[in-house]
Amino acid sequence: MEVLNGVVVLGDRACFRCQGNKETMLRKPCPNYGKVTNRRPCAHCASTRKDGHAYLDIGVGTCPDCKGVGTRPETMSDYLPVEVWAGMRFVVYRENRAATWNEQYLGSGCVYSTVDYGRSRDMTDEALAEEVRTNKQSAQASTICDRDGRLADHIGIFTNRSGFSVRPVFATPDGLVIRTANLSGLGGGVRAAVEASGGI
Ligand SMILES: [Zn+2]
Ligand SMILES: [Zn+2]
Repeated sequence: MEVLNGVVVLGDRACFRCQGNKETMLRKPCPNYGKVTNRRPCAHCASTRKDGHAYLDIGVGTCPDCKGVGTRPETMSDYLPVEVWAGMRFVVYRENRAATWNEQYLGSGCVYSTVDYGRSRDMTDEALAEEVRTNKQSAQASTICDRDGRLADHIGIFTNRSGFSVRPVFATPDGLVIRTANLSGLGGGVRAAVEASGGI
């Protein structure tokens, strides 16, 4: 994964299962539950049966996840190269308001959201921005890119009376747009709670 002209370009990454080795230890399914066990004793049987058993190894063979290719295509859920996050511009927006329900419980639309009991209020903008920059090593592409893979203009740090939330801010023809809670994927009760507390 790389960022070219502000847009994420997806590539391939090592297969999770074989770590790029193309081969992996193959296992027989558990005779009691029909699923492959990856723990010792068998995770399927250990809690419910006395005859928990170890791995049922067949031997090393072609990795079934990547079919022996060793890589898989990246998605927007994969992490950006570390230098992308570190190279973002971080801007602190001071807001004197309560944390919203979304910020407290969901974090929808946020890279992350935190309650610090006012600690960030006593920090300078520079110190807070530097803490957010170094607090994370990287970010999943989807959290700081729009649907077209375009990287955010900058990362906004929005303070409230009990903490702050970290969100991408996008440059559009109509000006800067802050990513807020995405209500479309939420259930009715949760959506109502987010809306009642002011959305963001
Ligand atoms: Zn594999
Ligand atoms: Zn078992």
